[in-house]
This record gives sequence, structure tokens and C-alpha cells, in this order.
Amino acid sequence: MKTFCILSAFALVGTCATTKYTAKIDNLKNSIKITDSALVINYSNTITALELKKELYTFASDSFEGREVGTKGQKLAAAFLRDYYIEEKIASPLGNSVYYQNIPASFFSNGIGASENVWAYIEGAEKPEELIIISAHLDHLGIDDNGDIFNGADDDGSGTVAIMEIAQAFKKAKEEGHGPKRSILFLHLTGEEIGKQGSDYYSKHPVFPLENTIVNLNIDMIGRIDDIHKDNPNYIYLIGADRLSKELHYLSEKVNNAFTKMDLDYRYNAENDKNHYYTRSDHYNFAINGIPVIFYFNGEHADYHKATDTPDKIDYQLLQNRTRLIFATAWQIVNQEHTLVVDEENELLLN
Ligand SMILES: [Zn+2]
Repeated sequence: MKTFCILSAFALVGTCATTKYTAKIDNLKNSIKITDSALVINYSNTITALELKKELYTFASDSFEGREVGTKGQKLAAAFLRDYYIEEKIASPLGNSVYYQNIPASFFSNGIGASENVWAYIEGAEKPEELIIISAHLDHLGIDDNGDIFNGADDDGSGTVAIMEIAQAFKKAKEEGHGPKRSILFLHLTGEEIGKQGSDYYSKHPVFPLENTIVNLNIDMIGRIDDIHKDNPNYIYLIGADRLSKELHYLSEKVNNAFTKMDLDYRYNAENDKNHYYTRSDHYNFAINGIPVIFYFNGEHADYHKATDTPDKIDYQLLQNRTRLIFATAWQIVNQEHTLVVDEENELLLN
């Protein structure tokens, strides 16, 4: 009988703690108000499968020779992105015509030549010092000894063209009087395939202070369907969203429920996941600096890191929907009233 009473007391404490935590989460969910629904839909609709396809067939073409860091093909890819932002009249973050963050050869090992990150910027109207970074890597694996070109259409041509379209949508919104409250850096990173070197360099030489960088949305492979989802392709893996900011996780879910209604698959976000994807792409260099991240990813497939990762195998409708999800998430973060909260400040780490 006594034992039973003690167990009851423990159970009661446990229930109270859980109730308190559940209440906190409910408060947090309720504090997130979807902003500008009509505008989000309007500008999301400018992101189209057709445009993504057009850009990807160029970016992942043989003429860029697999975009291996430091090579001619990679520099052609960088120039292609720079020329796009000039054409779209999207500024450099430096306020001049310099769209490259040059990385000297001395930063790399193994005789790799100098390379460059490519960046573009839209300044916020109300809180310009607060920055979100949307990133994808521009480099890939080059050409092998047989002369096979690794086009990297999914890895990471898909993320690259997604950023181009997102930037264009935000630019159009700004031109029509709906510019973001906070600032956005569109960051095309080099050297991801040789160990996240471009993001490592950026995090050591940020164009704006990392303390003011409130989130990184990193995109690496969002144009394909993996075996797990071949019967249910309206999905995307999200990794990292709740690690540093529970608000980011719930905000992302709310945005998806409001607009894109994709199956958000979190299996690779598990802390004990054997693939360690949380550490394996550029977002990790932001996360280790305390910046909340979401890594958008379609999972691996038979053409992963093979010369057969070509643009004809991309599902462009799906790429469009995933890009729209990322755009809508970014819109919410840059335009909501309050600044995204990192967990140390709202005590939600205590679960
Ligand atoms: Zn990649």
C-alpha cells in the first residue's frame, strides 16, 4: 500500500511537469501568427517548375564541368550566379558590384585553387540589422578519370536554383512595396563537397555579425524522391529545426500547414541517427555558432554522388513545392512581429 502511495506521488509530479511543458508549447504555438497570407501565396506563385527547370538545365549542364571547387567549371557556375543577380537587380551585401567572397587557396589543403562564395542581399526595412541566411552549395564533384561529368543536378543544383527563385520572389515583393522587415542574405557556398569549406570560411569571415544572424535555412538536395517515399512523394526531410529554437520548429510546421501541406519527415533529425546529416552540410557551421538552422533534404538515391545525377531525373513539380515551403518559411521569419527566439531565452530546453 505504501509503495503504491509513493508511486502515485511520483506520477502526480510527473503529470504536473508534463502539463507545464505542454502549456509552454501551446503558448509558443499560439504566439506564432502567420503573417501576410495573401502576399505569401501571391509571391509563392512566382516560383514555378518551369523556371526552376530552365535554370537547372543550365546550372547542371556539362558546360560547368561538374563544378569542382577551384576549377574552371566551378568559376563558370559562380559567374552564372553573379550574372543572374546583376540581371535581377538584386544587390551585393557590400553595396557595390562585388558578388564574390573570395577564399584564398591557402584556406584549402591538397593544392586546391582559390575559390569563391557568391552572395546577394535584400535589406530589411524595419530591422535591417537582423539577418536570415538562405544557403546552398554551388560546387560538386567535377569530372572523373573516365571523363564522366558529375552534373550534380540534385546535389546541389536543386538548392541553387531554389535560392535563385526565392530571391527573385522577394525582390518582386519589394519592388511592389512589400519588402521584408528583416534582411536576407542569399548565400551560394563553395567547397561543401570537400568538407563544408565555404561555410566554414563564411562563419569565420561573415559579411554581417553572426550575433545578428537569426536563422540559416540550408538547402542541399530537394529535387528527387528517395525509396522510402516512392509511393508518397509529397515530402521533405527537415533536420535541425528544433535543436536550437523550438519556435523555429513550430513556425515551420505552421507555415507548412497554412500553405504547402507537405509531409515533413523528421526521422533524420533524431539525435542518434546513424547518418549524422545534422553535421553533414553547410548549416552545421551556423549551428555550432548558436544560430538556429533548418536543413531541407530529400534523402539519398541511386544517383547520389554519381555521374547520373542529371537534370532529367528531377521532379520539377516537387522541387517547386519544396521551394515554396522554404520561401514561405523565410517570409514568416523575416516579417513576423517578434524576432525568432533561441531556446536559452525561453527555457524550452527544459523538457
Ligand atoms: Zn550536397
